[in-house]
Amino acid sequence: MESLKKKIREIPDFPKPGILFYDITTLLRDGEAFREAVRTFVERYRDRDISAVVGIEARGFIFAAAVAHELGVGFIPVRKPGKLPYKTIRKSYSLEYGTDTVEMHEDAIRPGDRIVLIDDLIATGGTARAVADLIHECGGELVEIGFVIELDFLKGREQLKDYPVFSMLTYQE
Ligand code: AMP
Repeated sequence: MESLKKKIREIPDFPKPGILFYDITTLLRDGEAFREAVRTFVERYRDRDISAVVGIEARGFIFAAAVAHELGVGFIPVRKPGKLPYKTIRKSYSLEYGTDTVEMHEDAIRPGDRIVLIDDLIATGGTARAVADLIHECGGELVEIGFVIELDFLKGREQLKDYPVFSMLTYQE
């Protein structure tokens, strides 16, 4: 699994100076690597009686949809504001400067649904925390939050301490 790290391209100073950006497009471009990442999630969740997989726009969609397809369950998109056409519920969370908001269709999750939430990367954990809280407020049971990449030094897990968390690849500073 650690060999997957070699498939992730690291871009310094993107999108702004001081940020090291983990570019998963190189992993996605490699059929075996993409399949291994998806398979790791699928094997983990196959026997957990999952009702649906939630993915976060945009890179989270790619993994979450593939995992949902393999599990034979539905996919639920969480998007940036104003993109979803039906009635939504939303959650705002704070960033370094300002706030951001995530939205989900209000009827996407039914009480008692067993949900896996998947995103490509956890940095500060703010995004995943907002989505996890939305799922919880809808009555969904969050079985686990799964990431391909965890930036351990940003301590995002502390934001998610109410929920089980799994990450495939961990990076130290
Ligand atoms: P956060 O809310 O801080 O955990 O940020 C998580 C979201 O921002 C994820 O959906 C990532 O796609 C993106 N992100 C944050 N930092 C990076 C980074 N260094 N490289 C790639 N994506 C990042």
